[in-house]
Amino acid sequence: MFYELKQSFSRYPEKAAFHISGKSYTYAEFGTIVSGIKEILAPALKKDAKIGIIACDHINTYAALVAVLCTGDTFIPIDPSHPDERNNQIILQSELKFILCADLSVLSDDFKQNHKQRLHYINDVLPGSAVPFLAEPPDEQNAYILFTSGSTGLPKGVPIQRKSLSAFASSVQSYGYNISPDDRFLQIFDLTFDLSIFSWFIPLLYGACVYTVPKTSNRFATAVEILEENKITIALTVPSLIHFLRPYFDEILLPDLRLWLFCGEALHRDITAEWQKCIPNAFIENVYGPTEATIFCTRYPCSKEINDDKAYNGILSIGKPFPGLSTILVDENKNIVKPGETGELCLAGDQVTSGYLNNEEKNRTAFFDIVHKGNISRFYRTGDLCFLDNEGDYMFAGRLDTQVKIQGFRVELGEIENHARTVHHVDNAVALAHTDDRGNTSIHLFVEPSEANVIEIASLLKLKVPAYMLPQKIYPLAEFPLNVNGKIDKPELKKLICK
Ligand code: AMP
Repeated sequence: MFYELKQSFSRYPEKAAFHISGKSYTYAEFGTIVSGIKEILAPALKKDAKIGIIACDHINTYAALVAVLCTGDTFIPIDPSHPDERNNQIILQSELKFILCADLSVLSDDFKQNHKQRLHYINDVLPGSAVPFLAEPPDEQNAYILFTSGSTGLPKGVPIQRKSLSAFASSVQSYGYNISPDDRFLQIFDLTFDLSIFSWFIPLLYGACVYTVPKTSNRFATAVEILEENKITIALTVPSLIHFLRPYFDEILLPDLRLWLFCGEALHRDITAEWQKCIPNAFIENVYGPTEATIFCTRYPCSKEINDDKAYNGILSIGKPFPGLSTILVDENKNIVKPGETGELCLAGDQVTSGYLNNEEKNRTAFFDIVHKGNISRFYRTGDLCFLDNEGDYMFAGRLDTQVKIQGFRVELGEIENHARTVHHVDNAVALAHTDDRGNTSIHLFVEPSEANVIEIASLLKLKVPAYMLPQKIYPLAEFPLNVNGKIDKPELKKLICK
């Protein structure tokens, strides 16, 4: 896989590797920036170094990601739009000593001051040799660590080894997508979201070009302009994009798209069938996977007409596992369920993380050993409920816990509740997700008692969690309604959500 990356630099020097904010960068230009950044990294590097990268829509940010992969170290993307406190937590947990930043204007003064020693500016790197040298570290070395929402209030670090990234790239290669240097990929994801790695890393293995979507207030609409203007051929997006675009489907026609992958949240059959008319020449696939299993690890190729019955509650199947991935469905006692029964989907194999960063407690509950096909395997519990249909395709049946998706972003409602409870006079807090008629999901926070200070809670949350985790509304209540078992009656609370 890393060999293919090196090949792209030498085979396609004149071809565009990236297109960012109206400017193209060839593989040769990109390669010299990667080499230049490698030289900046060199003095700092001990073996297995972790390198923070401030995520901005800048060629040097992408070059930094590739440079770290080339040196065989581990990149940790940091989103400057997330609260400093959260980013400081990530820096602390991962003991980051070195952070690269291509655009200092995206950082707060406090952040710059606090991390003066760690921060290295990479806007004006001196070019290095055109073809970056690639180290060959052991497969077990981490390629990257991403942080996801954690129900305890602290983000959880998910380390992904190089062998997992290689296994993912090999599966993609084996699927006959026929990716070629003529392909143009859409890159719409924040770099802290692992789906972005499909969109910027995979194209580089084939000499294809990456078209990035800037983080504007209306990213989905901007994406359509980019798709249209640049005749994009391959796109991976979250289904929320089509929920947002649905009112404009009549005006959208993108005949150059040949492959469209959906991932990150449940994909509804009806809207997908409507969307197919906007991309008449594209093959649509529903792919699935948690960050813990490297980008995605099951796939359901939808038929061109999307008129089959491969849906449960209107949600399309997530299909079959990638090669090398073992999947089982278990009950609450971790026993494998009978064929056709619903259980928690558990995953094992090269794509699965070896465990959360410095989090033994979570590792004990999220992973377990079981004898599978004669061998002891370590399985990861996804928290997703599924059943197998009679063609061996997994059908998605919801979550076991209170993790929700907001525009594809993973949110543990418990994380919001935990922060809200720390506010003075807040006795209790319950966060709920609500999906409106257009399919847009938002968070609503209920707090007890009615005197709880809504402004104080909202201000605290802004300091603690990214914008997509902020509740759309906070409801102070004298007392939460209880059900017959004396538990908080969440369906009753849902009725209070303002339409
Ligand atoms: P993340 O770690 O952010 O990629 O989120 C992983 C979670 O997103 C999974 O555990 C599922 O709950 C959900 N998810 C991802 N892809 C799909 C899909 N195609 N259909 C339904 N849910 C999905």
